[in-house]
Amino acid sequence: MKTAAQLAEHTNQTPEHVLKHVFGYDKFRGHQKDIIDTVINGDNCCVLMPTGAGKSLCYQIPALCREGVGIVVSPLIALMQDQVLALRELGIRAAAINSMRDSSEIAETIRAMKAGEIDLVYVAPERLLMDNFLSILDQCPLSLFAIDEAHCISQWGHDFRREYTQLHILRERHPDIPVIAVTATADTRTRHDIQSGLQIDKLYCSGFDRPNITYEVLVKQSPLKQLQSFLKTRDKNESGIVYCLSRRKVEDTAQKLTEMGYNAYPYHAKLDPKVREIYQNKFLREEGIIMVATIAFGMGINKPDVRFVAHLDLPKNIEAYYQETGRAGRDGLPATAWMVYGMQDVALQRSMINDSDASEEQKRIQNQKLAALLGYCEAAHCGRQVLLKYFGDDSQACNNCDTCLNPPKTFDGTLAAQKMLSCIYRTGQRFGSGHVIDVILGKTSDRIKQFGHNTLSTYGIGKDFTQKQWQSIIRQLVASDIISVDVMGHNTIHITPKGAEFLKEKQSIQLTEPEAGKKELTKQLKQEAYKLDTPEEEALFTALKAKRMEIAKEHNVPPYVIFHDKTLLEFVKHHPTNLNELGSIRGVGESKLDNYGDEFLEVLKEHF
Ligand code: ADP
Repeated sequence: MKTAAQLAEHTNQTPEHVLKHVFGYDKFRGHQKDIIDTVINGDNCCVLMPTGAGKSLCYQIPALCREGVGIVVSPLIALMQDQVLALRELGIRAAAINSMRDSSEIAETIRAMKAGEIDLVYVAPERLLMDNFLSILDQCPLSLFAIDEAHCISQWGHDFRREYTQLHILRERHPDIPVIAVTATADTRTRHDIQSGLQIDKLYCSGFDRPNITYEVLVKQSPLKQLQSFLKTRDKNESGIVYCLSRRKVEDTAQKLTEMGYNAYPYHAKLDPKVREIYQNKFLREEGIIMVATIAFGMGINKPDVRFVAHLDLPKNIEAYYQETGRAGRDGLPATAWMVYGMQDVALQRSMINDSDASEEQKRIQNQKLAALLGYCEAAHCGRQVLLKYFGDDSQACNNCDTCLNPPKTFDGTLAAQKMLSCIYRTGQRFGSGHVIDVILGKTSDRIKQFGHNTLSTYGIGKDFTQKQWQSIIRQLVASDIISVDVMGHNTIHITPKGAEFLKEKQSIQLTEPEAGKKELTKQLKQEAYKLDTPEEEALFTALKAKRMEIAKEHNVPPYVIFHDKTLLEFVKHHPTNLNELGSIRGVGESKLDNYGDEFLEVLKEHF
């Protein structure tokens, strides 16, 4: 390995040169070049791009091309060291300053910063804002400030960090140093908060589509079994995340998956931080690990080869869903976002909103956001279109989500809804869906006799649908906020004010044909992340991965920091025989070529 002093100086080189020689890539993607030019010219900008689109390069390259140190503000102390190690593998002089580094390391980094001998320094906002750190910055040549996870500035989002609201100080103290704020979360309100909080006008916003992710939503029946059959369609060595709402469910699910023979680990906020770090490192460094987690897990996880994200519970809203599922397939290879959801989920999320301390206005907004997510879950047309429309993107139907692959039929559900609502009303809004369905179907049960429900005018008026179909209709009416479920009580169902209006104003409603669309689709949706043609290619790929693991362990970094799967697949396809050919492959920069090109060539030669 080269020492810091031997590492290449890139100041005043072109962005294209740095892209090729440091990162090993030939072309910029999307707005990358414009953004990089803006920052190199000393202008500020906000960058909104989906996960995996390549935001980091947008500040890393200007930090290398401009003179001075680039300061990266990031809330993710636990992941900073991995980010720094990954940059060092690329030959970039990088360091982190946080509570996990000892004082002599910090002193050395500060010395290097003042001397301009370092390219990028990662620091948490609370440290950055300390008076003594601010005055250290006054003494350093600075190239830029990059504000990572910039949505943390917004109280509107779910990752709000108070310190982020103070970051405008940087603009005031260093008006000549460009600030670039990057995030993957980007509803209009968050966008506005970032721009106004940091006083930055210029905005680069990329399309939000993640074409390599296949989306699938199933009706929750027996979630663990459904998860198991989903996992059976996956390869054993794939990594994935399973999200659950509660810590207990995380623990239970992880344990059950372990009993089933999967390498599953729990992750939630109450786990001992040391244990949490061990599990996180396992997930990052090993293959075939399933992380069963609450939403405490995920922000800043750069693992590019997460092949699936499964939701056993409904997330809060579309932003959360988009962000959580966005952790799949950062490497651009096919990945799946899979979710089961049921009526109880809706009821639980609604009651969490309504019982919170939030103001009435906030509750109203959160309910609206939940409704948008339910619109996605119950979508009768392309789910991806619904998702993207929410972020302001218009798109064609994708042919790569459950609704496109198996379009549900819709029907005029007005009469069915009216029948159901009047049955709920006649039974006194005191019963769960099971009983109400028994009444509408005209069943005979002790309970029905006990309450005299066999004498109601609505008794037996719904024989045109089966019990399962009525369950689906009720779920859709709950999703449309026409019926509500009291989860804290006995799951009794009620007519909401919107439901009352629906009846009173004789409104109509389109429903998806019960059970038509939401079948077990998983097998149909499964796409190979990659396909190798011959057993020889398989063997070579396995050998290259083994070499990668060996080097990664030696350097104490996750394997993908050495090379992505995509790069190894290119090795298999192009079979380079010398350093020159190896160096021309996408993802092979000069530092990596120098440091371990020979070792990979050895493996390639053995498999010629
Ligand atoms: P984000 O921060 O937007 O989620 P990253 O910056 O981590 O995404 O980039 C995702 C992956 O894409 C990284 O492995 C990165 O090296 C790669 N990448 C970024 N820009 C390019 C490019 N122009 N060509 C090829 N790969 C790129």
